[in-house]
Amino acid sequence: MNNNFKKYKLDKEILSSLNSLNYNIPTRVQNEVIPILLNKEDIIVKSKTGSGKTASFAIPICEKININDNTVQGLIVVPTRELALQVKEEISSIGRLKKIRCIAIFGKQPIKDQISQLKQRVHIVVATPGRIIDHIGRKTINIEGLKFFIIDEADKMLNKGFAEDMETILNRLPRECVKGLFSATIDDNISEVCSKYMTNPKYVDINQDEVNNFKKQIIEKYIKVNEDNRYEVLKKIIYNECPNSVVIFANKKDAVRDLHEKMKKDKFLVGQLHGDMSQDKRLFTIKDFKEYKFNILVSTDVASRGIHIDDISLVINYQVPKDKENYIHRIGRTGRYNKFGKAITLVSENEEKYLNEIEEYTNSKLDEIKELDDQKVKRGKIEFKVKEKELLNTGKEKNKDKKTNLEVTRIYLNAGKKKKIRVIDIVGALSNIEGINNEDIGVIEVQELCSYVDLLNNKGSKFLKKHREINIKKKLVKVRKDNKL
Ligand code: ADP
Ligand code: MG
Repeated sequence: MNNNFKKYKLDKEILSSLNSLNYNIPTRVQNEVIPILLNKEDIIVKSKTGSGKTASFAIPICEKININDNTVQGLIVVPTRELALQVKEEISSIGRLKKIRCIAIFGKQPIKDQISQLKQRVHIVVATPGRIIDHIGRKTINIEGLKFFIIDEADKMLNKGFAEDMETILNRLPRECVKGLFSATIDDNISEVCSKYMTNPKYVDINQDEVNNFKKQIIEKYIKVNEDNRYEVLKKIIYNECPNSVVIFANKKDAVRDLHEKMKKDKFLVGQLHGDMSQDKRLFTIKDFKEYKFNILVSTDVASRGIHIDDISLVINYQVPKDKENYIHRIGRTGRYNKFGKAITLVSENEEKYLNEIEEYTNSKLDEIKELDDQKVKRGKIEFKVKEKELLNTGKEKNKDKKTNLEVTRIYLNAGKKKKIRVIDIVGALSNIEGINNEDIGVIEVQELCSYVDLLNNKGSKFLKKHREINIKKKLVKVRKDNKL
């Protein structure tokens, strides 16, 4: 195994997971952060969007989890539900072979289900603030054994709205719990929290100019519009740029809804995301977008923080964001990891002052697009339609591939401790089944009346097609897919 993560002397299961994720070389921020967290020191990290911050905390946390201890040892808080799921996925992928169990907890999900999840064996929880405080208050989560507490998108989480919640959690943490703050935009608003709750935190600030000293990863431009032609200009930009996938940000829910409506009428393959939608719809939208079921996402700032979607080559600000930090996060949905991207902002006369603030904040002047070439736009319109079709097809292919490689199925078994079933009995029974090997069996949990098993490597659906029940210790035990969380 030729993997540069080896130097951190990680568990071999974690190294294998990193290998299968194709994480072979640590990113700059990972190089800095991993040793510090392994050394159990508090940390404040500022590093660009898409630079791999999630794994920089996920790897050392997974490394330090004691797998035989069933209490929650890592808690990560994030601002949105979509991000909670994404971070949970990343941690689960890194911890899967070590059999680390990570769950996401957020609002608008039945609290009863969450309580029953939290009673099971859970090592790491990724949560939005409101709901986790609810569980701490009800004592349905035990955080006494917490080893790591991470605030992702820390500047947002320590801003108005969320700050009190953060303090509530910080006040409850066990003394020896390591604390980490992560964001692409960190400034002084966190200093109070740091001095109050952190012990000699290490500062990691990855200076982007140094990293990309020859080329910027995101090309930023703006174009002047007025309210009458804003939508027409948007269309022209799309055709002119002919992106694979594009995210368009508007400032308010209504603006997102209107724009989505208009684009739908114009036959674009477009989806929308905003806070008024039901949770299910929000999650399906992100999933469908990731699976190339449509190629234009119109969103409020709910998608501006943290969300990673491959192949977004263009971000358009339909309106200039009024928060300068949000500009950085919005455009950071493109140009991620080692890719390049483009961001174009539509600016009306009234919005110029916000653009000036952004330029001052980012310490750079955006280039203006003075005019769009009509011929290119015309050709682009045809090209874009062809691309749409191609994308839908590649989406279908990619999804097929992904499913065969990575599918994990959680199986419910209707017997547990009461019937004297132990983990080892389940492993024994499953490995006797044709086509299932030891490495296909993931996390197993045995509860009083039932048990759960993760079947990896796409073995779950085949198994369920063939079996309604299996024989464990001469007892017939019913099996079915577990659909919760
Ligand atoms: P950030 O939180 O800094 O915005 P993410 O943690 O979301 O960035 O990571 C961006 C992308 O980079 C993700 O798709 C992730 O899978 C990928 N990535 C992270 N670390 C590595 C690595 N060492 N090698 C390859 N890809 C990586
Ligand atoms: Mg992130």
